[in-house]
Amino acid sequence: MSILPPPDTGFDLDVPILIVGAGACGLVAALTANDAGAEVLVVEADAAPSGSTALSAGLIPAAGTRFQREAGIEDTPELFAQDIQKKAKGENPQDLVDLLAEKSGTVIEWLADKFDLPFSVVTDFDYPGHSRRRMHGLPTRAGRELIDRLRTACEAQGIDIICNRRATSLFAEGDIVKGVRLEGPNGTEDVGCGTLILACNGYGGNRAMVRKFMPEIENAVWFGHDYNQGDAVTWGEALGAETLHLGAYQSHGNVAHPQGILITWAVITQGGVQVNLNGARFWDESQGYSEAARAVLAQPEGIAWTIFDSRIAGIARQFQDFKDAEAIGAIRTADTLTKLAEVTGLPKDALTQTITRIPTDGPDVFGRSFLGEPLKPPYCAVKVTGALFHTQGGLRVDQDARVCKTDGGVLKNLFAAGGAAVGVSGSGDSGYLSGNGLLAATVLGHIAGSAAANDMKEEHGHA
Ligand SMILES: Cc1cc2nc3c(=O)[nH]c(=O)nc-3n(C[C@H](O)[C@H](O)[C@H](O)COP(=O)(O)OP(=O)(O)OC[C@H]3O[C@@H](n4cnc5c(N)ncnc54)[C@H](O)[C@@H]3O)c2cc1C
Repeated sequence: MSILPPPDTGFDLDVPILIVGAGACGLVAALTANDAGAEVLVVEADAAPSGSTALSAGLIPAAGTRFQREAGIEDTPELFAQDIQKKAKGENPQDLVDLLAEKSGTVIEWLADKFDLPFSVVTDFDYPGHSRRRMHGLPTRAGRELIDRLRTACEAQGIDIICNRRATSLFAEGDIVKGVRLEGPNGTEDVGCGTLILACNGYGGNRAMVRKFMPEIENAVWFGHDYNQGDAVTWGEALGAETLHLGAYQSHGNVAHPQGILITWAVITQGGVQVNLNGARFWDESQGYSEAARAVLAQPEGIAWTIFDSRIAGIARQFQDFKDAEAIGAIRTADTLTKLAEVTGLPKDALTQTITRIPTDGPDVFGRSFLGEPLKPPYCAVKVTGALFHTQGGLRVDQDARVCKTDGGVLKNLFAAGGAAVGVSGSGDSGYLSGNGLLAATVLGHIAGSAAANDMKEEHGHA
């Protein structure tokens, strides 16, 4: 049962603020609440903080930061909000978009200043749909570094993170959450709490929910964290919470196959193309990497080859994933298109025609315009497929990240953020703007942590 009455025998432990999930969202929420003077406990199902956050490139979009100003980039939350809504065709709740865009800069600078996260802005290529360069990342441009630095910051602040504890049920009395049942190596433990923050991401690891809400991507490789089982949605719905856009997700159509390594979309935005096993292009790649999964999976064998050149490989090499893909031979190189056909097994004449016919002025037959330099030898190619990265639907939250109910009220002491809450990616797979995932994880996590700490202060008469 997902919702239980509080145990007759009381709880094994009581904490003011309990956070389920130690991804970017949970750890940012914990740092924020702790910074505001509240006592927090984070519980995590996995053996160590990791989550989808560790699998990501760790790039967080933010507008109006000093990192942008230092790089000569003028940006505003309003522009950012417009970009988010444009990509999602205006399908997102405007108040949520405005909130995330408005607070994004503050959160990045706060993490940098308070916890020494050395962010810099990506300045050498554009992400589709972003009208300004606003992706902020750590030196390795890898989510592993982001989660490790957040965990180190939590440890330095004395925040307890208990791993190997999966929350299996919530305790509630009416609308009020009372605690959580955890399963761990020593059996079950019941933890009571004043406030609960759900930071346990979405439902991409739950095949039944994927089949139900997004059947078109059911057969894609699952690339996110396996513990993302949709617990927030299951618990929320049982408590009368409102959900939104459960069919929304981010996928990626540039995952090296069979190695399963993410190949940065920069190889496309810089002028690369995708061809199918017949050596033919099949879509306008500039639409974005999320839509690319559906486009690639619809090709023979669900496979494509992404073709680019050594100049572009030089840019992609700032990503550890790309370097890893090169190190294990996933990236093939050749001095001529004939040799490229040999190393990929693609039909030589078709491949040559496809690459030599890429227009340098004006749009191609798919409507894509190539504004950068044309592809030049030596050429590079990587065999790719489509993967599901994470879901974007979830619990509807208010401006404090408090969970909204279907009857118009809120669940007073239940917060949701990151992949547990509805994101700002519209209702399907094409509304995802790069970075929407970590934007919701870090910014909404910060908002949830701050509001939860405020509630605690008010409750104890310190406000
Ligand atoms: C390959 C890949 C690349 C990506 N690249 C980017 C990118 O560059 N930029 C970007 O913005 N987004 C990116 N994303 C998306 C981004 O990773 C997620 O949106 C973000 O990490 C979500 O953070 P989170 O804290 O909500 O979830 P997570 O990081 O997944 O953390 C949730 C945690 O909750 C735990 N958990 C779940 N259920 C329970 C339970 N019942 N009890 C206890 N613990 C539980 C899980 O074990 C997990 O550790 C990428 C995703 C993938 C898969």
